[in-house]
Amino acid sequence: MTTNIILLGPPGAGKGTQARKLTEDRGLVQLSTGDMLREARKSSTETGKRVAEVMDRGELVTDEIVIDLIRERIQAGGSGFIFDGFPRTLVQADALRELMEEQGQTIAAVIEMSVDDDQLVKRISGRFTCGGCGEVYHDTSRPTQVSGSCDDCGSEQLLRRPDDNAESLRTRLMEYYKKTSPLVGYFWREGKLHRVNGLQSIGNVSADVNRLMEGLSEREAL
Ligand code: ADP
Ligand code: ADP
Ligand code: ZN
Repeated sequence: MTTNIILLGPPGAGKGTQARKLTEDRGLVQLSTGDMLREARKSSTETGKRVAEVMDRGELVTDEIVIDLIRERIQAGGSGFIFDGFPRTLVQADALRELMEEQGQTIAAVIEMSVDDDQLVKRISGRFTCGGCGEVYHDTSRPTQVSGSCDDCGSEQLLRRPDDNAESLRTRLMEYYKKTSPLVGYFWREGKLHRVNGLQSIGNVSADVNRLMEGLSEREAL
């Protein structure tokens, strides 16, 4: 069985960046509820519009909507999932546990990426992503090699998220501390919590994460 993991951390901690690296390095499958919701908000249905408003304010979308999105993906089969930005509430964590059990799967580890608020503000305010392939960049810490085009796919469609502004970020941080940070205790109690210092360079964080993954697969092989 391939290992399933959760990346936990505040907005801007580097979850998406590390999830993408793990898909390249270890062939895991990234399940980002943020990306799924950005897809869902494009639809002109009532739900689509409501999702867009809530996301732009920086609040959490209802548990029901995100759990439905994740259920669809898990029930479609497969394993080796990286949950990126999910679960974000205790209700979501319980739902995930049930969905995994139904499929005879487990979460091997939860990697908490810790970064202080000052750095989060800097990361969010400099973030942009490639509209072609989803690669994540930053104005100073991870610029594109050629200005204006994606290193990976060459697309010139480089986008900034509407919710990456100071006001929405303040709300997102509050949402994180109020609703998501209790998950640290939840997973600690299950003996699954691992902490990585997210203030390091992208490469060093990735090395720590990969070391942790090696440890998990050794344990699985025993
Ligand atoms: P970030 O990269 O800042 O951590 P994401 O891309 O993961 O943000 O999520 C963007 C927004 O999508 C969140 O602010 C929230 O509105 C919504 N969202 C994403 N995942 C969830 C979730 N698991 N539960 C509720 N809302 C979510
Ligand atoms: P999250 O998914 O947790 O919201 P991202 O992976 O989107 O975070 O990263 C937020 C921003 O910070 C992006 O612009 C990204 O390029 C940059 N970034 C990610 N990891 C690091 C790091 N270790 N050091 C410096 N900048 C980083
Ligand atoms: Zn690209």
